[in-house]
Order: sequence, then C-alpha cells, then structure tokens
Amino acid sequence: MLASLRNIVQEVNSARSLPEVLTIIVREVRSAMQAGVCSVYLFDEADQRYVLMATEGLRSESIGKVRLAMREGLVGLVAAREEPLNLENADKHPNYAYFEETGESPFHSFLGVPIIHHRKVLGVLVLQQETRRKFKAKEEAFVVTVCAQLSGAIAHAEATGALRQLASVGRGKTREAVFHGIPSSPGVGIGRAVLVSSSADLASVPERFVTDIPAEIEMFRFALESVKKDMRSLGSGLEGKLSTDEFALFEVYIRLLDDRSLGGEVIEAILQGKAAQSAWSSVVLQHVRAFRKMEDPYLRERAADINDLGRRVLSYLQDGQKKNLPLPRRIILVGEDLSASALADIPVERLVGIVSVRGSSNSHMAIVGRALGVPTIMGAVDLPWGEVEGHEIIVDGFSGDVISRPSRTMRRTYIQRQREEKLLLKDLEKLRDVPCVTPDGFPVSLWVNTGLRQDIAAALKASAEGVGLYRTEIPFFMRTSFPTESQQTAIYREQLQAFAPQFVTMRTLDIGGDKALPYFPIEEENPFLGWRGIRISLDHPEIFLTQIRAMLRASEGLNNLRIMLPMISSMAELERALELIQRAYGELSQEEGYNIQRPEVGAMIEVPAAVYQVKEFGRCVDFLSVGTNDLTQYLLAVDRNNPRVANLYNTLHPAVLRALKSIQEQAAAVHCEVSVCGEMAGDPLGAVTLLGLGYEHLSMSANSLLKVKSMLNQVTKEEAKNLAKRALRMSDADAVTQFLSDALNRPALSKLYRPGLPASTSSASAKT
Ligand code: PEP
Ligand code: MG
Repeated sequence: MLASLRNIVQEVNSARSLPEVLTIIVREVRSAMQAGVCSVYLFDEADQRYVLMATEGLRSESIGKVRLAMREGLVGLVAAREEPLNLENADKHPNYAYFEETGESPFHSFLGVPIIHHRKVLGVLVLQQETRRKFKAKEEAFVVTVCAQLSGAIAHAEATGALRQLASVGRGKTREAVFHGIPSSPGVGIGRAVLVSSSADLASVPERFVTDIPAEIEMFRFALESVKKDMRSLGSGLEGKLSTDEFALFEVYIRLLDDRSLGGEVIEAILQGKAAQSAWSSVVLQHVRAFRKMEDPYLRERAADINDLGRRVLSYLQDGQKKNLPLPRRIILVGEDLSASALADIPVERLVGIVSVRGSSNSHMAIVGRALGVPTIMGAVDLPWGEVEGHEIIVDGFSGDVISRPSRTMRRTYIQRQREEKLLLKDLEKLRDVPCVTPDGFPVSLWVNTGLRQDIAAALKASAEGVGLYRTEIPFFMRTSFPTESQQTAIYREQLQAFAPQFVTMRTLDIGGDKALPYFPIEEENPFLGWRGIRISLDHPEIFLTQIRAMLRASEGLNNLRIMLPMISSMAELERALELIQRAYGELSQEEGYNIQRPEVGAMIEVPAAVYQVKEFGRCVDFLSVGTNDLTQYLLAVDRNNPRVANLYNTLHPAVLRALKSIQEQAAAVHCEVSVCGEMAGDPLGAVTLLGLGYEHLSMSANSLLKVKSMLNQVTKEEAKNLAKRALRMSDADAVTQFLSDALNRPALSKLYRPGLPASTSSASAKT
C-alpha cells in the first residue's frame, strides 16, 4: 500500500491540471483499493454545493451534474462532520440521496473521507462497493492518508485550473483573476509578467503555447542536434572505459531523440501549438513515470537516464528562449522560487513588481524587493505562474493581491492608488533633512541596510546616518564564481566611498539557509539549521580571510569600516573569528605595509543561544546587532521561507519582544552598543516597539527609512515605552499586532502602512 501511495502522490504532483489530478486519483485509488467506484466531489464556492468532479465506476455523464447542497446526502454529511464515514448499507442511512444518472444503485457499501486543506474542507473522496461490507480499518486509514497527502495538490490545481479556464474562455478579452500571496514589499506595480524558471528543471517548466510553430520546431531540432553532438563526444571520450553494453546505451539515448521516438512525440505536440519546452518536459516526464513504475529494477533505473537526457535538451531550449524573448517596458518578475540571482537576467531599472510562488516576506528575495522599493509578493501558492507569461499583472504589495489581466475599472483603481502613494512619498521626502527625534526630545539613529548597487543612491537620498548592515553575500550572488580579493576590494571600496565619512557595517559572508550561491550549492535537508553564515566562514578560512583582507584594504584612508559576524552561537566561534580578523589585520598592516585603521568588530544576535550570551559576547566586541529575521524564525520555530507557516511568523510575538528586552538590558549592563538590523526595524509598528524597549539605533531598507522617521517623530519615547510594556504582558502575537495598530491608528500615522485604506484593514483571501 505504501508503494501505491507513493506512486499516486508522484503522479498527482506531476499532473498539470485539476481534471488530470482528479482522474489520476480516482483511477489509482480505485485500483489500489479494488473497489467498484471511486469518486471525488469538490465544493463549488459559487454554487455552495459539492459537485461530482471525477469518477471511476459511476457513469461519466453525471460528472459536473450531480450536485449536493451542504449537509445533503452522505457526501454533505462527511464534509460537515469533517471525518470519515464507513457504512455497510449506505442506502439504509437516513442521509442517503440517490442520483439515478450515476447508475449507483448496485453499490451498497460506502466509505467517504473529507479532503481538507489548511482547515478547509475542499471536498470528499468516496469509495463504493457492491458487496455489503464495511471497509477495513486498514483500508480506511489508507484513504485518509491519500486524502491528506493530496489535499495540497487539489487546492493548488483547483486555483490554477480556474485561471486556465478563464484564460481560454476569454482569449483576446480581459479576464481578470485575483490570487493572494504574502505582502512582502509595499507599493503597487503594474506591468507585464516575465517568467523565470529554475534552469533545466523539467517539473518546473510552465505550460506555454506559441503561435510561430515553425520557429519553435527549428529551436527544438537545434536543441536535439546539440545534445546528440554532446552525447557522441561524451561517448567517444569514454570508449574503452565502458563495457560494450554500457557503451551501447549512448547509442540508445541518441536514438531516443529521433523523430521516431521522443523527438517525434514532441514535434506532434508543438504542431498542436505547445511551446517546445512545455511539450518536451511533458513527454519526458511521462516516460520517466512509466519507467519508474516498471517491475524490472534495471529498467526502473533507466528513468534517471531519461530524466538526465530531458534536462540536457531543456537546457539548450532555455538558452534558445533567453535569446529570443523581448522584455516588456515594465517588468513583473514571476517565478516559482525566485532568488536574488534572477535579477541578473533583467534590466533592474524596468522592474516594477516581483511575485514568487514560494517563500515568505522574510525570504531574501523579499528583502531584496524591499531594498529596491519594488512591490513584492511572496508565497502566492495558487498562482498558475507558468501560464501568465506576458499577461498584464498588478502587484498589490500592501494587501498581497496579484491581479492577472485586470479589468479597466481595476486598473483605474490601482493607478489612483499609485498616485496616492506617490503623494505620500513626496510628503515624506520633506523629512529628508529633519533629524529623527521623538516629540519628547530623544534622538534615534536611523541606518540603512544595503547590498545591491542601487541601494547606495536610495540610501543617500533618504539621508541615512550610516550603514547598519551591508549584506556582502548579495554581490556574491551575481557572479559565476567566488570574487577574488581584488574584485572584492573594489566592490567594498565603492560602498565605503559612497558613505564616507559615515560608517558602513560590512557583514561577513552569510550564505546557506535560503541563500545559495549558484557556484557553491549546499544541499541539505534542513538548511536553516545547517551549514550557514559564520559556520561556513570558519570551516573555510581561505574564503573568510580573503574577504576580511578585501574589506580592510578597501577601508584604507577612509577609516569608516565596521565588520559584523553573522549567526554567532558560541564564544568559541566568536573568538576564532576575531582571531582570524586579527591575523588578516596583522598581515596587512605589519607585513604588507598597508596603513589601515583597526575597524570596530561586532556580532549579530540572531540565534536563541546568543540571547543568553549577550553579556559575554558584548564584552569582547565593539557592538552588537539584533537580526530579528532569524531570531524570530528560530524562537518561534517557524521557517522564514515557508508560506505554509507564514501566518505564524510575527516579530511582535510576545516571546520575541521578551527576548529583545533581555538583549537590550544585557547589552546595556556591559556598556555595549546594540542596534537592530532585522526587518522589524523598518516596520513603523516594529520601530515604535523597539524604541519602547530601549533601542536607539535602527537599521532598515532605505525605502522604509522616511516612513519610520515620520512615525518616530510623532510618538514620544514615553508613549513607546508604555506601549512596549503593555505588549510585553500580552499572550499572543495577533493581540499585540492589533493592540499596536489600534494605538497608532491616527489618521496621520495609519497611511504609513497602507495608503488609501485604514491601517488595520487586510485583504480577503484568494478569489478567482
Ligand atoms: C536577520 O536575520 O535579521 C538579518 C538581518 O539577516 P538576514 O536577513 O540577512 O539573514
Ligand atoms: Mg540573519
């Protein structure tokens, strides 16, 4: 049964539409259970009824016709009770409803299991049998497992299928569809979608259609020929090293690319209008699935070879497409799992919006979006991202709505919203040269977080007082190998020069977690608890020392460098890192004749272990900086990158606030400067709370700086202290958020979180 379950899940996950998902489910579950009937009923929001969507065993004409009101029939009962119903004589049950068109009269036994996704009943899976018998407990458990495993795929397919339907009905016309994600960088962006797919990943190739069929065929043939050539030269290089049988396999693979084999199937699909990449990945994945199911272990293993062949061809097709695609004037970058490296493929000045299916507002893509001031939505899990290429899209970075093919009215509303936002920003600009001081006279230093080249101009425009966090990994993302010492020196010098005489806090390389360098992949089951940040630097002193040397050399004559160490969790790590920094400093100033001022060195407090060692750390560094992004994820055990638990991630959680209070008090006790450089500092509510907790230095993205200044210039320190005090006593994050929003919801302040709408309003969930 486990093998059947694995097969079903695998097949369903590679299906591309709701009907396909459902057909696989009913066919495979009926066969695994050897039942007479397997059907799926799904809830139709518009009609408020459960509709028979797929069946194996009942008459296919009844699909879409049999509809049950809520609580009607056994299906309605299962859905209402949210638990399985296992009956020997279904027809004797008081809730039994008979639908003649299904031809279900001979079936007596009934097992109905609810399909639930994120606490919502999506529908019911029903098994029926002629013999009057109860399904065994083991069988029931199997179906419950199947439903739990498949509910996500059904929810996703349901939402994505809806758009496909709309898109095909309204070809040429405007057919609006709204999807919902996690608002991750405020603002409204209106532009056309440009897709970024992970390179050579067959499963993530979107379904696309083309009009220029001959060009598509030509591109496909070129890709096939290129791979054949590669295979031949690979084969001849291995001649003599492989057995005759193994060698013969090369020829088999080359022949698979012929017109009489995979090649031919794909050409057929392209002739029907499919894009070469979509056609190729569908055909290859179908064959891979077929091989994986084979009894013979030798043949089963060939699935991996076909998959590899598929990736090789796809890689050529993707290169071909990159060359062909003209980019729109206003780009909305859309992808399944976007990372900062996607920016390398587009002119950033044309970017007006970012939408990623995976990730959350604390992922690095979101942070980069905020740094660029580009409206960003992460975790738009139901967006059929593969089908929106070239569509007009509105990104509402305030509410998290992604609107595909907006109607004229919708577009007008959003253009108006953009105007309001512009006015607000213009208003804020007046604060540029005003110091950040609370009405009762307490100054707060506002610093910026940087990483991209574009940040420099934005930071200078916002008149930041220094750089509290320069993420050095960002320039590392944009390359194909580790930059050399002199390349790094040039990059760092540019930063230091731009801000001099103000300081720049350069954080040493913080890769791992969700920040993978394309040329230094780290494959781990649990990357946020794995090889990250300082752990990598200490394991690779050659990388660390090169970076430190480059930073120090870049600071010569400017003397505005501060070095910061990420992810410190023990004194041993801190001491070793300080020792290496000292070594690099000694080499440069004593042995190589550089005249460098010794920089201040600090540590980040971003893992729970560090919270309990603030005093020890504070005694041996010049400053501390709290990384609330990671600290929150580790304290609350909520992956900052996972949209499924994004609703649980909240920097205003009382546990986070209590940790922040303790950090501030411990740092003050050892007279060590402490700042906050996580995203919480750039959120007006978060900034007030931090002020109330005693923090006086906040570092944030340049685009948040004037909003935060405007807030802090209107709230006294006394008021902030009182708010923080009350928040600390509360027992849950939502209550704190509500409390602070209400307390600061004065007309002048509320606009800071959402122009055009009251501050506490949040948008409804997915609507299509
Ligand atoms: C943090 O964790 O709060 C932080 C500033 O670092 P990053 O977001 O780059 O992990
Ligand atoms: Mg961090």
